[in-house]
Amino acid sequence: MILTIKLSGEGLSGDGNKFGHSRLHMISDQIRILLDQGHQIGIVIGGGNIFRGKDLSGNLGVERTTADYIGMLATVQNALVLRDYFESREIESRVLSAVSMPQICESFIPKRANRHLEKGRVVIFAAGLGAPYFTTDTCAVQRSLEIGAKILIMAKNGVEGIYTADPKKDLSARFIKDITCTEILEQGLAVADAAAIGLAKENKLHIKIVSVEKISEALLLEVGSSIIPR
Ligand code: UDP
Repeated sequence: MILTIKLSGEGLSGDGNKFGHSRLHMISDQIRILLDQGHQIGIVIGGGNIFRGKDLSGNLGVERTTADYIGMLATVQNALVLRDYFESREIESRVLSAVSMPQICESFIPKRANRHLEKGRVVIFAAGLGAPYFTTDTCAVQRSLEIGAKILIMAKNGVEGIYTADPKKDLSARFIKDITCTEILEQGLAVADAAAIGLAKENKLHIKIVSVEKISEALLLEVGSSIIPR
């Protein structure tokens, strides 16, 4: 089965560093389990551990679009670290970027992505959609649709799924096992960008929300929260 995984940049950080060794080790263990089960894996990587467009937009004369391009470059940096880490652990991987940078990595071409996947390589999608005003959440839904993924696994840091409020800040937050896209949008839950949820709803893509530590168990019914595309 083709699976896509959305990893936020912060999912890579640990021990006060942009990249935590134990985090990368744990993530590659999760990926290895899914590969051994015969799944094809695409990863959409964020950049938040290095840079987010909104951090600089409007400051120092930097325009929003410039800031977003810097954010996309942050995702490429993360993708390269992930690729080399995976390869050091004998997980064959390729980086496909939405912004062409031929000295550094391959460009995103859907058929090429599928070819790599068929060969058992992990495909890491870098530079988001290659366009400002988007985030890697929306990219994760779009890439999932384009490469024919059956499910998008959104891996979260420190939470096991969807809650009524941020469980790290609000003790009364309740866990939600299943929810529709429409309910997320109506209730304004901060699960993923509204654009991402809208795109998943329109195109009937199932999304599973799990903690990073449970990526390999994401297909189990009892693990995480499910977003139903209605
Ligand atoms: N970004 C963008 N277009 C995209 C994907 C990302 O402009 O298609 C920029 C945007 O500035 C964003 C940054 O790249 O803040 C990093 O991505 P994101 O915030 O999604 O990373 P995450 O929070 O998942 O680590």
